[in-house]
Amino acid sequence: MSLLALHPAIGQSKKPGAAGFGGGTLTCHCSHDPVVVRVDAQVAHNHACGCSKCWKPANALFSIVGVVPRDKVHVVSRPEKLHVVDPNATIQRHACKACGVHMFGRIENKDHAFYGLDFIHTELSQDAGWTGPEFAAFVSSIIETGTPPEQMADIRKELHSVGLETYDCLSPTLMDVLATQVAKLRKAA
Ligand SMILES: [Zn+2]
Ligand SMILES: [Zn+2]
Repeated sequence: MSLLALHPAIGQSKKPGAAGFGGGTLTCHCSHDPVVVRVDAQVAHNHACGCSKCWKPANALFSIVGVVPRDKVHVVSRPEKLHVVDPNATIQRHACKACGVHMFGRIENKDHAFYGLDFIHTELSQDAGWTGPEFAAFVSSIIETGTPPEQMADIRKELHSVGLETYDCLSPTLMDVLATQVAKLRKAA
């Protein structure tokens, strides 16, 4: 298993964000009239994700995805090319209809712990300074999309070799955020 097969950007993992970096521009893969999204913030909780729903480059086993405040995300070119991949999903992924790239994922449920955050893929940006992936989430989920279970030990080893801790759900910090919200909603009920 090579790092490239995990995701082309995983080899440069654990890259700290540049000091004072305030965001950049995401561009879809269309060679003509691409969708362009301006993000006015550094990414947080950037991570490799093994779930089947996040957008990833062809042949990659993982996506790389992180969050930014939704009010920092602005579609600046070709908004008419965007559509929501699955309107019923918790995270509504706004993708380019022509090339299929997901430009941002948005949560519309105000009771969700991650409401107010949009999910973005910093590899769509040419700007240098984004924080690299900090951990790997939903690692076991790549079995659901066809990875043989016997490859998992090697894959986890590769991820550890570039400093990424592996989780089969989200990181403890993010699981705590989700559980805190559940507790809060229970109290309110
Ligand atoms: Zn496109
Ligand atoms: Zn995912």
